[in-house]
Amino acid sequence: MDLRPAPEAEEFRARVRAFLAEHLPADWPGIGALPTDDAAAFVTSWRRTLYENGLLGLAWPTEYGGGGMTKLEQVVLVEECARAMVPLGPASDTVTVKMVGNTLLKWGTEEQKRRFLPRILSGEDTWCQGFSEPNAGSDLAGLSTRAALEGGEWVIDGQKIWTSFATHANWIFVLARTDPTVPKHRGISFLLCPMETPGVEVRPIRMLTGGSEFNEVFFDGARIPEGNVVGPVHGGWAVAMSLLGHERGEEAALNPIMFRHEYDRLVALARDHGRIDEPLIRARLAWCYERVEIMRLLGLRILTQYLRDGDLGPAASISKLYWSEYHQVAANLAMEIMGVAGLVPAGHVPPRAYRTDDPGAPNSTASWEHVWMLNAASGTVYAGTSQVQRNILGESILGLPKEPSTA
Ligand SMILES: Cc1cc2nc3c(=O)[nH]c(=O)nc-3n(C[C@H](O)[C@H](O)[C@H](O)COP(=O)(O)OP(=O)(O)OC[C@H]3O[C@@H](n4cnc5c(N)ncnc54)[C@H](O)[C@@H]3O)c2cc1C
Repeated sequence: MDLRPAPEAEEFRARVRAFLAEHLPADWPGIGALPTDDAAAFVTSWRRTLYENGLLGLAWPTEYGGGGMTKLEQVVLVEECARAMVPLGPASDTVTVKMVGNTLLKWGTEEQKRRFLPRILSGEDTWCQGFSEPNAGSDLAGLSTRAALEGGEWVIDGQKIWTSFATHANWIFVLARTDPTVPKHRGISFLLCPMETPGVEVRPIRMLTGGSEFNEVFFDGARIPEGNVVGPVHGGWAVAMSLLGHERGEEAALNPIMFRHEYDRLVALARDHGRIDEPLIRARLAWCYERVEIMRLLGLRILTQYLRDGDLGPAASISKLYWSEYHQVAANLAMEIMGVAGLVPAGHVPPRAYRTDDPGAPNSTASWEHVWMLNAASGTVYAGTSQVQRNILGESILGLPKEPSTA
């Protein structure tokens, strides 16, 4: 682990701070303090400001619209924006920029990179992720959506589920079985499909909360050009795995800052509810503090590896497991501190909660209920469940025997 700040990073940090000071209002309260509509409008215009100043896709080559800098500068940018309480973009950029953008950069043909990457940065294209199916979640390789070549086009048939952002994305990347005769991991391709393709239908899933963040996406003879495949035909599993591991390095920089903001809110909550002097509450707050500090040190270790090797391998699973399990305990503590008051959600509702409420948000029962029920609870499921992360760590780090395979 390298705890020393690199000189080139500090130089770039000063530039980012000057940029933030120039573009944010002097009394900027943090994105969390804005009402819902204002927050949405701010995120859209802020993304454009970053784009126009060459700060989106900072580590991507300039020929694809990127900033031509390194991962080190990208990490510094993420840190400084988190400290200044501004997001880099909307939540859908996780799928659009980090997932598919970085995957195209690694696996795309020259033509695909030139076609898609500039549109991703400019915001012309928004993507969604067509991986999970009703019978293929953790066992993703068991997917049954099929695609067959017919007259120079892939014809896709099947169903995806839990597709976030599908209602406003204009593209979806789809894992489809293109060779059913070989073992399951070997007959899958990674396809790119416009959402407006005839035969693609999105059906929003109404959630318990009344919202419909998730969707089902149906493919009924949807035809896309043969060239819309990323990586080798039938070799999409490796492409999918590299997509799932992308950019955890940024996450390692972001997590300790974000969860530290949240921890401060948690202490304020205990104070507001008159429980700050209770020994059991204090002990649990101390546990949370310690965990956020460990997250910071873990983050530094992960970042050192990320900057040295370019990707993380199993360290991505350590990070995911650590923050998602910590967050459930912290959110649960908030609900216990509020007691019966927590059963009546009131006050500020997070306009754009990403993992936790945005920094700068006023403490409210509605905010914590949202964080607890919608974000913390789902954190150990999306991007691979905790059990799956433990399987990965058991096999790849501890050298435990592999799970029995059925294919
Ligand atoms: C907020 C959120 C957003 C999402 N967005 C998307 C999206 O945009 N696109 C997309 O494709 N998917 C998305 N998903 C789906 C997500 O990837 C899956 O929910 C996840 O992979 C788990 O799959 P599953 O729900 O089918 O559960 P299952 O795989 O059926 O698992 C059920 C339980 O069994 C356990 N289990 C399964 N296999 C094993 C094993 N081998 N060893 C030990 N335990 C095991 C699991 O850990 C879990 O506890 C999203 C999910 C959430 C919660």
